[in-house]
Amino acid sequence: MSIDVKSLTIAGAAALLSEGKISAVGLCQAYLDRVAAVDGKVKAFLKCDGERILAQAAASDSRRAAGKPLSEYDGIPIGIKDCIVSEGESCSCSSKILEPVVSPYDSTVVARLKAKGFIPMGRLNMDEFAMGSSTENSAFQKTCNPWDIDRVPGGSSGGSAASVAACEVPASLGSDTGGSIRQPAAFCGVVGLKPTYGRVSRFGLIAFASSLDQIGPLTRDVLDSAIIMDTIGGHDARDCTSLPDACGGFADAVITSRGGDLKGVKIGLPKEYFESDSSDGVKNGVQSAIDTMKKLGAEFVEVSLPHTKYAVATYYIIATAEASANLARFDGIRYGARDNSAEDLLDTYFKTRGKGFGDEVKRRIILGTYVLSSGYYDAFYLRAQKVRTLIRRDFENAFKQCDLILTPVTPTTAFKFGEKKDPLQMYLADIYTIALNLSGNCGISVPASLEEESGMPVGVQFIAPAMAEEKLFTSAAIFEANRAEKDLTATL
Ligand code: GLN
Repeated sequence: MSIDVKSLTIAGAAALLSEGKISAVGLCQAYLDRVAAVDGKVKAFLKCDGERILAQAAASDSRRAAGKPLSEYDGIPIGIKDCIVSEGESCSCSSKILEPVVSPYDSTVVARLKAKGFIPMGRLNMDEFAMGSSTENSAFQKTCNPWDIDRVPGGSSGGSAASVAACEVPASLGSDTGGSIRQPAAFCGVVGLKPTYGRVSRFGLIAFASSLDQIGPLTRDVLDSAIIMDTIGGHDARDCTSLPDACGGFADAVITSRGGDLKGVKIGLPKEYFESDSSDGVKNGVQSAIDTMKKLGAEFVEVSLPHTKYAVATYYIIATAEASANLARFDGIRYGARDNSAEDLLDTYFKTRGKGFGDEVKRRIILGTYVLSSGYYDAFYLRAQKVRTLIRRDFENAFKQCDLILTPVTPTTAFKFGEKKDPLQMYLADIYTIALNLSGNCGISVPASLEEESGMPVGVQFIAPAMAEEKLFTSAAIFEANRAEKDLTATL
């Protein structure tokens, strides 16, 4: 049978594979053909080794023919953001300084995907070291939004979101430090999950800000997001911040909730998120989502997250402080690019880092080093940690009044290339997503509607308390099944 990648999800592909209607080789070939047809425009992939992918697909077909598939998902390709390592593949973080690196091992998430037979497909473009909101900070290429190639896909997981929206892969992994999964998901009209901090192992994720980073899926629907979370979540002894709790059963929960409503679900609308400036398209999209959920029986209450106004500033102190420490290891000595014109050790550091890092990364290292330096530590870093606690308490208090919180994901829909030249303007693109990285809660961005004027997708964000992914998935899936706008596939 011919494979229409435009209508395929992970769950759909799994059904076709198990019925024997398609083979893994046929499936992977269909996605590779799609990459060949559209990635010249979208530029989501930094690399995509077709031979390697097809070899793994052939191995998957043999397992299935022998009656021994690794799971129902055996043979399904998944795109991987370039900061998540995969054995034998490059992992540049879209930075020149790591361009020559090939990973000798698998990250835990990739190992867990492979254990179920998923096939890592290519390396997806991103903002350098995940710093940015548009993927314009990649040292190699600019990824375009499949809905309108004059617009950014969001960032930093722009390649991950664009590849799913362009149907080049059924799903991908991204990382989210301040919104980098949810914001590009909203810009590209796909589903993006930031799990509770500690629920997905960071082993093999090249660190940006370790107390904020989480890996999560970008998918075409909520069920696929739950399938990936079932696969990658759960304790990992190799990550000391990994939570010991069991994690899984999310896909089953989504399937069981099918056809259900939202009666008895109390949803908080934080007034601070609705007082600030969002575009009309975003406001209308969020309102239409609220109307849909009211019809499904959800009860809405106003809540307050009073320290919201400090979230962006707090984030840019903590994230840059941690980044300055994490990126100190890239010195041209142990791995990565090295400038060989240097005269001595110190000069090697200066030249390698001077040439290897882009402007935004340097800006963050300088800022992070400054806020950690003696004399400024108390005034900035320590104070930011205290405000972080207040932001976490805001959520704890709000969740005494509601089960979930609903907010916009972004103040506007996807903007045009070059529109946000001032870094501070760019930083504000994450105003609605950043607080829950600081608090550690989980959140999911789900497409809600299309903006009338531009035709660009608008997302809504569901936020749940830490460890409440199941509630997040089931409510988001019920909304998704009932939203007014049914077809949210980019027309590329
Ligand atoms: N845009 C934010 C930043 O530039 C968040 C990035 C992220 O989540 N990785 O830091």
